Amino acid sequence: MALRLFDSLSRELRELKPAHPDGVFRFYTCGPTVYAPAHIGNFRTFVVNDVLRRLLELELGRDKVKHVRNVTDVDDKTIKRAREERRPLWEVTREWTDKFHADCAALNCLPPHVEPAATEHIREQVDMIEVLMRKGNAYRAADGSVYFKVSSFDHYGRLSRVKERELQASSALAGKVHAADADEKEDVSDFALWKAWKPEDGDVQWPGPEATSGRPGWHIECSAMSKKHLGDTIDLHTGGVDLLFPHHENEIAQSECCNGATFARHWYHSEFLLVDGKKMSKSLGNLYTLDDLVAKGFSPMALRYALLTGHPRKQLNFTLDSLHAAESALATLRAYRATLPAAGGAPDAFSTVFENLHDDLNTPAALGAFFSIVNRGSGGIDAAAFDRVIFALGLKLDAPVPVKVQAPAAVNAIAERRWAAKQIKDFATADALRNELTAAGWSMLDRKDGYSLEPLKK
Ligand code: AMP
Ligand code: ZN
Repeated sequence: MALRLFDSLSRELRELKPAHPDGVFRFYTCGPTVYAPAHIGNFRTFVVNDVLRRLLELELGRDKVKHVRNVTDVDDKTIKRAREERRPLWEVTREWTDKFHADCAALNCLPPHVEPAATEHIREQVDMIEVLMRKGNAYRAADGSVYFKVSSFDHYGRLSRVKERELQASSALAGKVHAADADEKEDVSDFALWKAWKPEDGDVQWPGPEATSGRPGWHIECSAMSKKHLGDTIDLHTGGVDLLFPHHENEIAQSECCNGATFARHWYHSEFLLVDGKKMSKSLGNLYTLDDLVAKGFSPMALRYALLTGHPRKQLNFTLDSLHAAESALATLRAYRATLPAAGGAPDAFSTVFENLHDDLNTPAALGAFFSIVNRGSGGIDAAAFDRVIFALGLKLDAPVPVKVQAPAAVNAIAERRWAAKQIKDFATADALRNELTAAGWSMLDRKDGYSLEPLKK
């Protein structure tokens, strides 16, 4: 059963297969920037990629997939955080890398086979920059920074379809923000490969191209690390949609000019997670980490399940209610699993589930097909076939079930009164009671036939 996936470059569904004669599928995912906890939007991208990795392993064999996901441990944000906290950069990035690993494990994401860190691959990045300079694709600016000359690469803009004019406009806009950078460049659309040391970088510096000290630009790290660990041409490169431009466009330009070979044969971008219909942001108070949800009494597995209920190429609106639904779906699966014999069922009992997963990673349709089989009963099904689906989706049914935080009696009483007021459409009273609940530190989630109470985030 071929695994077909949308390719952002050709804009069509294409079958995933390894190009290398050794049959190993080379798969690169842009990883996290480690200066704070990853939020549940980041985890949508990583969970979707984890399902992809699992399907590839089922399809090609466990030893025929090589998955690389980097850690961005030096950039403007990480340096700024270290400076604010007056800590060494490595200490800050180590802390958040460890936290990221713990969250990934709780969400049952398989660790990548190689997880290279940008600061451990400075030499490889400098080597690529020096090749680009020699070939005339890069130039040194007055302050010692090195820029990629966008006009030297004819295919620039093919992935994101940015036209020359738009590129100028968007770069000019970015130029305003980074006025210092813009001054040094020959053209506003050029981007930094190497950033010369500035006093605010403190002790963050390495010897760079032609021995100028500084640090690498963000884009070059992925080009250098995928080259080192997967070779010049990879089978699949993935990330969230926000990386399509300029990050992935720039990766293509650097890698193809340096290596003289196609960089990635297939590009896949998953869509954003919204929360309550809006972009997640600290100022809106709708930015959740995994810990925030666990503190509210939800299990990491419920988050994983909820993240899979939307088509990965469509925006998904996250609500706390979707976690309640996810917990009960997991409970249904757990109970169903307990009724199954170990063997003796039809091996292809869940073929409709896999058909949907293989059709552009349609996880909501796959879950629909899964539940239509589960709801029919356990006749003809064995645990081995069921567990194959559970493995593909990466669900862990034996993970501990959370103990819900119970609201105190006084809070329950206000909620009861509010629910009653809503039933008789006395919205003024209902709103006033909601304010009382908020003041007491609780939020009330209304559903069609009832409500639930959640402790508010601190
Ligand atoms: P970062 O740590 O910012 O480099 O992001 C890590 C990954 O998360 C990237 O692939 C981003 O595209 C992705 N990402 C960031 N925000 C969201 C979001 N709200 N929904 C889904 N993916 C996201
Ligand atoms: Zn990247």
